[in-house]
Amino acid sequence: MGSYKIAVIRGDGIGPEIVNEALKVIEKVGERFHHTITFVDVDMGGNATDKYGVSYPAGTAETCKACDAVLLGAVGDPKWGPDRPAEQRPETALLAIRKDLGLFANLRHATLRPALIDACPLKNEIAAKGMDVMMVRELIGGIYFGKRERYETEDRGVECTDLMAYSEMEIERIGRQAFELAMKRQKKVSSVDKANVLETSRLWRSVMHRLAQEYPEVDYEDILVDNTAMQLVRDPSQFDVVVTENMFGDILSDEASMITGSLGLLPSASIGATAPGLYEPIHGSAPDIAGQDKANPIATILSVAMMFKYSFDLPEEAAAIEAAVDKALADGWRTADIAKAGETVIGCKQMGDIICANL
Ligand code: NAD
Repeated sequence: MGSYKIAVIRGDGIGPEIVNEALKVIEKVGERFHHTITFVDVDMGGNATDKYGVSYPAGTAETCKACDAVLLGAVGDPKWGPDRPAEQRPETALLAIRKDLGLFANLRHATLRPALIDACPLKNEIAAKGMDVMMVRELIGGIYFGKRERYETEDRGVECTDLMAYSEMEIERIGRQAFELAMKRQKKVSSVDKANVLETSRLWRSVMHRLAQEYPEVDYEDILVDNTAMQLVRDPSQFDVVVTENMFGDILSDEASMITGSLGLLPSASIGATAPGLYEPIHGSAPDIAGQDKANPIATILSVAMMFKYSFDLPEEAAAIEAAVDKALADGWRTADIAKAGETVIGCKQMGDIICANL
């Protein structure tokens, strides 16, 4: 019986619709498990640009920091596209909030939901072995944040460089996150690097080896990034927690997501050292179907399950949400994005209602 405060960023496009369904689920879980849960609405994204002239209004981070967790639908729409100044673009807000909350670890949970095994693009005999991978990606360091240069050379035209830098501190904090997660799961960590070529990867590997000694119960392996890409499609069931740096994680987490067959189903969490974690579906704001009650709310609802597990340390509540989603799918309920030809299609709101009823 706890008391929790959640910052709610509904965002743009389908954001408000999918968040509505997730809030219904949170309220239902609160009732069933006797928790007091309050919500604080936060404007961010294109809708904030329309209201205040900027996508990331002053005080956004402070409001979120005063809460126990942040739930985000999605932000973005061509209406606030690249021709707008940076402070009006929704993506600027997304990068800013991750940085301001110090969210250095991105957790993407790629699972094959039993009722949707047919959606997996891999061969049946591989899919039948299942997949439950927690991809842990370093989010605020490495080549995406390193120094960039563009300059003229005398004989080779324009040349550019992007610097990949990692410190022991940055590697240790993401590594520890991965080992701690593994302790709550199947106790296996696969650390992905390119240590046969990159100096940053050699440092990465040495820090991971030091951490592995602190977690003797965890089965640890080093695996090169190219081999990981192959193993994910050869047999994803071999992985439990996969931890890697920013760019490798960006690519591998998309590969892992595709294997599950539907972007509309995948949740994610971004976690820092002290600030509240941020929970969001991996998909965007889907402006093409916004306001039509066609969006699949499951990725957002499963993000709420991650919130209960990782921010509130309430695994039973998380499991109840996952079971309610699996039951809805097993009973044959489908939104348009996951329906096969001939299957009856329901809307976003009805899917939320059915999942709530299962709780
Ligand atoms: P998208 O994920 O929004 O949509 C891709 C396709 O998947 C579309 O056809 C869409 O209808 C469908 N889709 C996505 N989520 C769905 C759901 N829950 N249910 C049913 N169908 C769903 O990606 P995009 O079209 O490349 O981007 C649209 C906007 O979203 C852009 O402005 C982009 O910048 C933004 N975006 C935001 C985030 C975020 O907020 N974290 C992430 C990615 C993209």
